[in-house]
Amino acid sequence: MKTMKVLLEDHEIPRQWYNIQADLPTPLRPPLHPATGKPVGPEDLAPIFPMNLIEQEVSTERWIDIPEEVLEKYLIWRPTPLCRARNFEKLLDAPVKIYYKMEGNSPAGSHKPNTAIPQAYYNKVAGVKHLSTETGAGQWGSALSMACQMFGLGCRVFMVKVSYEQKPYRRMMMNVWGAECIPSPSNLTQAGRNVLAEHPDSPGSLGIAISEAIEDAIAHPNAKYSLGSVLNHVMLHQTIIGLEAQKQMAKIGVYPDVVMGCAGGGSNFAGISLPYVRDKIHGKDVKIVGAEPTSCPTLTRGPFAYDFGDLAKMTPLLPMYTLGHDYVPAPIHAGGLRYHGMAPIVSHLVKENLVEARAYHQLDTFEAGVMWARSEGFIPAPETDHVIAAVVDEARRAKEEGKEKVILFNWSGHGMVDLASYDAYLTGKLLPYELPDEEIARALRAIEGFPKP
Ligand SMILES: *Cc1c(COP(=O)(O)O)cnc(C)c1O
Repeated sequence: MKTMKVLLEDHEIPRQWYNIQADLPTPLRPPLHPATGKPVGPEDLAPIFPMNLIEQEVSTERWIDIPEEVLEKYLIWRPTPLCRARNFEKLLDAPVKIYYKMEGNSPAGSHKPNTAIPQAYYNKVAGVKHLSTETGAGQWGSALSMACQMFGLGCRVFMVKVSYEQKPYRRMMMNVWGAECIPSPSNLTQAGRNVLAEHPDSPGSLGIAISEAIEDAIAHPNAKYSLGSVLNHVMLHQTIIGLEAQKQMAKIGVYPDVVMGCAGGGSNFAGISLPYVRDKIHGKDVKIVGAEPTSCPTLTRGPFAYDFGDLAKMTPLLPMYTLGHDYVPAPIHAGGLRYHGMAPIVSHLVKENLVEARAYHQLDTFEAGVMWARSEGFIPAPETDHVIAAVVDEARRAKEEGKEKVILFNWSGHGMVDLASYDAYLTGKLLPYELPDEEIARALRAIEGFPKP
């Protein structure tokens, strides 16, 4: 019989996360304190994160043990299958073998619980009682709601208003898991009230929602803030994906030529690719590609700069590719991946040419997602469609070059709660959209005068 999937037994689950900071040829630039321009210390982050997560954020240890309590929760759905997309390969008719990590079978439907669970756990052991967070399309908010419920924490989620209105089902998932979900900008915070005073109809943005969640966490005793992507400790937790993939591919004696993921804040892409970046640093010939939307082309068109992670400038200055902390995504874009910044780790790897980035139009991404659904069956999240479009592109290149290639990609989540955007695509309501040049000019104005990396 032909291999369609490679499974790991429960006892084969990786016991440690991989920390790329131990292997980087040049170290990451530090986050800076906006007032002093000096690197932030652990004490600067202590009001919003527990010390155990701050330690992971700055750690340069190569391997970090996964606590037993976290492993127990991971085992609810992990190890995830490594699948071979033979039906999709047939459709593409190109000399490629396509393998993917199925991260859509977690309880929340995406890779996000891989970090939600350890974040809830570490906050719990640090004595925290409530977490505040933001969410865009709702995957992160729902994953953290579930994790907080598992560890007995309260959870409040500020959800970007346009998604709150367009995608009610993830708000309902959050409620089922016992969390509170508030459309952002809201009247609950000064940051939200400031935005509403100027733009009463603001559709919201992740940058605004982050400001609200941080302000909310600081305002409440025993509460901390939690972020679902971008930060180093989030990338660390997500490496479980790539570490499992390496074990699974070793079982069938295959090594990928190309490793791919879609990139919003960078966490699922980092999760599958960082263990392969390690191999590449040590001489392995492997291409690593992140896929993003042309409507929010952070890596492909943004400057590499110090910028804030949020609109109200509550975060430290992070060294990253950015479209400016005041970026508000066009409501016309349906595919997610709408954060203005990119994980400093992923940004650093792009800057150092260890990984590359490509941008895809939303019509091409939905076309690829529908091709996938009509061959492999599973309906991917609109975010995941970006990496599928990149796989289609890579297969076309392989055909043109007449070269055989093994592609590995991360199937970051399912789209069963995003069917309205598929409906918009299938009924011709989506338009091709590219970020206008004026928006890049705005981004450059937003970072004017900031320290240069
Ligand atoms: C959140 C999400 C993404 C984008 O976030 P990253 O941090 O870039 O991974 C991609 N796919 C799915 C299914 C998501 O839920």
